[in-house]
Amino acid sequence: MLALRKTAAAFGLEFQEIPEPPPPGPGEVVVRVDAVGICGSDVHAYEWTEGYGFMVPHLPLSMGHEFCGTITRNGTGSGFAEGDRVAVIPFVFCGHCARCRAGDTRNCLQRQGIGLTRDGGFQREVRIPARCCVALPAGLEPELAALAEPLGVGAEAVLTGEVGLGDTVLVLGPGTIGQAIALFARLAGAARVIVAGRADAPRFEVLRALGFADLVDVAEGPLQEQVLALTGGRAVDVVLEATGVPQSLNEGLGVLKKGGVIVAAGIHAAPLTLALTDFVRMRHQLRASHGAERRTWDRVLAHLGRDPEGFRPMITHRMPLERGLEGFELARQRAASKVILTP
Ligand SMILES: [Zn+2]
Ligand SMILES: [Zn+2]
Repeated sequence: MLALRKTAAAFGLEFQEIPEPPPPGPGEVVVRVDAVGICGSDVHAYEWTEGYGFMVPHLPLSMGHEFCGTITRNGTGSGFAEGDRVAVIPFVFCGHCARCRAGDTRNCLQRQGIGLTRDGGFQREVRIPARCCVALPAGLEPELAALAEPLGVGAEAVLTGEVGLGDTVLVLGPGTIGQAIALFARLAGAARVIVAGRADAPRFEVLRALGFADLVDVAEGPLQEQVLALTGGRAVDVVLEATGVPQSLNEGLGVLKKGGVIVAAGIHAAPLTLALTDFVRMRHQLRASHGAERRTWDRVLAHLGRDPEGFRPMITHRMPLERGLEGFELARQRAASKVILTP
């Protein structure tokens, strides 16, 4: 079968013909991939920028960690049936390290990343542990179910930031994660959600289609000025970052209320320089959010099932896996927001 793979520690991805997955062992399933998204982190690994060296011992491998599919083969005790449609949590915990034994499987010391350290969804079929699968709400379309992973990342950031009823929230970054954060901040009861980006017309367009009107383009003027103009001079309650640009956190801190929470959710290629005395005097709370808890997946799928059309504008491009490299280039040049591939 055709697979889009990272084959070397260098720029690019490569199409390869690989064998079908072997039959599933106990507790495993084979999933036919129905839809798979191209993630910003996939693009970074494609470009081979800083921060993906952990993949090297596992190459070559098929990337793709935002996918859903249909179970085609079923190992004993999987708890699923052939034909079941599932979203895939792209992490595999080992089950026997100290953290796993303590019941804290999310913080497994030996966890594998599906599409990062073992084969992922940029191929027609993939064999995974059944415990990575979450049943889909009835009738949820594959392209929308493939959004569950990035939506979970956004929802987890909103939970980490403790966004509450009536809050004014600033989201830094207009990409898929920023969009997911904005959507779940609104669902969490934020009265006002401001989203900032830099000269990013295609993704501002998506945000408008999702119903966000308070958009700030930092190419047109300083963030602080524009945000305070929108709020009538009031600092914001929560800042959530999904830019991957360390400096954006400094700018976000400049409009955050005293004692307010700022959540970093981006993957950063450079360190942050922080004016610590201001940070301390303002009692700002810097938190990190990465991935999503199992409970968050259930919450996200409940919302996707309830209001699928509310999420569809996030998808700007759809294409077969064969055109995957074109999809990567569109995402890389920020001409696309979410690109969905069909293997
Ligand atoms: Zn991702
Ligand atoms: Zn473990």
